[in-house]
Order: sequence, then structure tokens, then C-alpha cells
Amino acid sequence: SLILGLGAYLVINQMASVGIMFASMILLGRALQPVEQVVGNWRNFVSARAAWLRVRDLLGASPPAERTLILPRPAGQLSVESVSYVAPGSVKPILRNVSFRLEAGETLGVIGPSGAGKSTLVRQIVGVLAPMAGSVRLDGADVAKWPRQSLGRHVGYLPQDIELFSDTVAANISRFQENADAEVIQAAKMAGVHEMILRLPNGYETQVGEGGAVLSGGYRQRIALARAVFGRPSIVVLDEPSSNLDGQGDAALVDCVRQLKDLGTTVVIISHRPATLSAVDKMLVMRDGSVELFGSRAEVFGKLTQPVRSVPARSAEPKAVEAGAAGG
Ligand code: ADP
Repeated sequence: SLILGLGAYLVINQMASVGIMFASMILLGRALQPVEQVVGNWRNFVSARAAWLRVRDLLGASPPAERTLILPRPAGQLSVESVSYVAPGSVKPILRNVSFRLEAGETLGVIGPSGAGKSTLVRQIVGVLAPMAGSVRLDGADVAKWPRQSLGRHVGYLPQDIELFSDTVAANISRFQENADAEVIQAAKMAGVHEMILRLPNGYETQVGEGGAVLSGGYRQRIALARAVFGRPSIVVLDEPSSNLDGQGDAALVDCVRQLKDLGTTVVIISHRPATLSAVDKMLVMRDGSVELFGSRAEVFGKLTQPVRSVPARSAEPKAVEAGAAGG
């Protein structure tokens, strides 16, 4: 407007021609274009500055991890001390004051009705979730504070929802560790899947596809078992490891648990299958997020069968466990 006004003034006073007025208007318009662009993009400058400040604050709040002392391989003594957990955004506690202790090399079977908090408990044991109160200790050291780089090597975990990565069978078993062929085969043999893998189209080099889509549910579960025992962890945690297994897979699982026991590995298994539970030393019965019973297998079986004994012909051990786990 100023340029136009000044041009008009000069033309009226016959100090410039109309052509000059338009020419200088165009020239000055071009010269001021960068300034106009800056003004037009001001919003972008402001948001970029705000984003940079946020990134700077975030990085400032979590500085690069300092080198922590690498703890030695744990023997596998597990102690769960008054663990309570409430899911974010919820008020009802999933775990309430759960405590028990396992010596290194002991095998624990966890049973209880659906929704009792069994999976949530084992997620605390492997360090996926941190308790709201209490602590889970492996050889006395708090799992939630254990340096992440080294904890994974000592813990084997077979979750309920198995996720295999889109790569070869061998890479999945070795947890992407390179040059571990002998250990991969050792883990597969231990899980009883070596022959099964050799029969796949490309053996250990078979691509499993996105989420292991190429394999059946049972195969996925058995390969995930091999992944859980890979590298001789100190503690192996199996969440419903036999849900997709046939009789042969079930027998391989029991054999694997026995081998782990012989190696002195601590094992925690959530399962309701009598065959799987036959291999455990101790039992934990969960109900509504609390420990209902904990003790040796015989002791817990004994307590679970007590109310059932009044009904004749229902005192067989496995049936009693199922009855106890399903609701009584
Ligand atoms: P279980 O393995 O004994 O069947 P879970 O540990 O899977 O039991 O779950 C126990 C209860 O906690 C369930 O009622 C489940 O819905 C609830 N729960 C588990 N995880 C979460 C979560 N992240 N947010 C909200 N509720 C959860």
C-alpha cells in the first residue's frame, strides 16, 4: 500500500511516469518477498522451536545410560517380596501382596482361574513389568533395576502370546545373536524340536514369515520354547507353554523341563495340564491376585483334594488339580 501510495503521489505531482510507478512497484514487491515469506512461515518457525525445546528437555531428562556394573550370572534363586500391581489407568489391583521364594534349580507350577493374575505375576518375574510395591529379586538383586543388557541373557521367557520375528528359525531361536549355531542346535534339541525343524523346507534357514505366520500354532510354541531355553538362562518362565501342543509336544515339554531341572535352572510354569505339572517341585495357587496356596507339590495337591475327598471316586491327583484350578 505504501509503495502504491508513494507511486501515485509521484505520478500526480508529475515526478514520475505511470510506467515507472508500476515497474518500481514490481521491483520493490520482489525485493520484499523474502520478508513476506518469513512472516507467512512464522507459525512453522515457532513450532520448530517448540519441538526443539521439547527434544532438548526430553534428552536432558534421560541422559545416556552410564556404564553399570555387570552382575555375574545368577544362580537362579528367586524371591518375590510383597509384590502388588495396579494396571495404569485402573484402580483394581491385579496383584496383591504376592510373596514366595524359590531356591536355585527349583521348578514351580502356577495354577489358578483365568484372570487370577498369573500372567501379570510372571511378567514381573521376567522384568517386563515393574511392581508398584514390593520387589522381585533374582539372587538378591532387584529384577526391575537389573541392567537391561545383561538381564535378557539370564532369563528365558515363553509368553502366552508368542511373537516370532520375520526371519529364519535359527535367528528366532538365537534371539538374533550371531555365530551361535551350536547353541541354537543345543536349545532346539533341549526343546525337542531339532528333528521337526530339520523337516521344514529349509531347515533352520526357513523363513517363518511375519509373526511366524508360516508355522502352525504348535510349531510356533515349540520354537518359542527353544528360544526360551537358548543360551542356558538361569531362570526360565513359561506362560501356558502347552496350550497349542499335541501329545508329542506335551511330552517334549515335560522332557525339556526335566533337562532344565538337571542343569539347575529355576523354572516357573503356568499350566493346568497334569502331565506338565508332574515335573514341578512346588506349586503356587493364585486367586484374585493373591496367593491362595504355596508349597511343595504334594502339600498343595493334598490341600486341594481335601474338600473333594468327601465325594467318593474323585481323589485322583490330576483331576483334583483341574478342579482346584477351575474354581474350587
Ligand atoms: P491370568 O493369567 O491369571 O489369566 P492375567 O494376569 O492375564 O490373569 O490378568 C489378570 C487380570 O488383570 C485380568 O482381569 C486382566 O483383564 C487384567 N489385566 C491384565 N493386564 C492388564 C492391563 N495392562 N490393563 C488392565 N487390566 C489388565
